[in-house]
Amino acid sequence: MLSIPSVEPLTASKLRVEPSSSPKAIPDASALVFGQTFTDHMLTCKWNIERGWDAPVISEYKNLEISPAATVLHYAPTLFEGLKAYKDKQGRTRLFRPDLNMARMLRGAQRMAFPTFEPEELIEMIKELLRVDERWMPTEPGTSMYIRPTMIGTRASLGVGPSTEVLLFVIMSPVAKYYSSGAKPVSLLCSSSHVRAWPKGTGDCKFGLNYAAAVAPQMEAAQKGYQQVLWLLEDELTEVGMMNCFVGRNTPETGLEIVTPPLSDIILPGVTRNSVLALLRAHANPSHPFTLEGVPSQLTMSEKRIFMSEVASYAEDGSLSEVFGSGTAAIITSVERIGYKGGDVRVPVEGAAASGFGPVAGALYEALQAIQYGDVAFENWSVLV
Ligand SMILES: *Cc1c(COP(=O)(O)O)cnc(C)c1O
Repeated sequence: MLSIPSVEPLTASKLRVEPSSSPKAIPDASALVFGQTFTDHMLTCKWNIERGWDAPVISEYKNLEISPAATVLHYAPTLFEGLKAYKDKQGRTRLFRPDLNMARMLRGAQRMAFPTFEPEELIEMIKELLRVDERWMPTEPGTSMYIRPTMIGTRASLGVGPSTEVLLFVIMSPVAKYYSSGAKPVSLLCSSSHVRAWPKGTGDCKFGLNYAAAVAPQMEAAQKGYQQVLWLLEDELTEVGMMNCFVGRNTPETGLEIVTPPLSDIILPGVTRNSVLALLRAHANPSHPFTLEGVPSQLTMSEKRIFMSEVASYAEDGSLSEVFGSGTAAIITSVERIGYKGGDVRVPVEGAAASGFGPVAGALYEALQAIQYGDVAFENWSVLV
């Protein structure tokens, strides 16, 4: 992989804080719409090829000033991350596995020929941003702070070429519980005329370009009465909207098996996906103390390719036990219906009465939230700010 030398490294100890002179009123948590309210401050780190990284600054959240010729506006050198901070019962702020987000961001930066940075330094600065905007941290159950690190190419030139000027910034948005009135299973339409990601493409990176092209198919699905797209590559399941996907099957011979596609260039390596795998494996391991409530311990967790024709046949023979997606925004989302080849595949959603989750999905949601809010410790996933 191409590695761009960075002259001056990104250094948290050089961080300067310029408090906003016009702090905003904080809206009620019940009035929050996902990703539409922003805190008072943002972190900005500028890089250019001659100097390397400038001293980072936390200052007022405000519009950016970039050239209309900035490459990001033409050729889309832009990537992002998404992670959350949670308030625990002692009033402390916690990040969930930020090291995985930073490692993914760094990998994306390399693929985009952006400068690299020391992930620990950026985590330190995100912690400082959380401290500066502490009064914005929502405290109601189910709420969190969504954190959006972003990198864009700002070189003013219509020539396609390396990003010799880059802006890394981090903004934050307080978010309410994703499903305010309880979880609701979603309907999916299989994509037949569009793919989200393809072999040797960039579907495994959080590049803006991967998402821009997903909007029209999403709108088509909505017009046909489905909430999200089930992204297939030919007949192979890849992802659910902007989430990783899991399929549960239960037969007397195999017992309960949860399957997710293996990581590859067509799958985004989700932090939630990684966590789901680890929790299911810990649960199935008799020598591990962790258990998922209400889930049989006879369970296999497999990473292998899944085809929609198989899912349809499992629904047909009654062995399909559930389908769900995983991602930072909603954590876990169960699926109840999949539009496929002109018909609907019905997916059971039979967790605890009216929970809106399938049985394993609901237990995973509860377990992940307990770890994220610091009620339960699991490895060192929850990091104090
Ligand atoms: C971000 C994202 C996910 C989920 O990743 P998390 O790290 O779990 O939030 C899954 N699929 C796509 C396409 C994504 O962009």
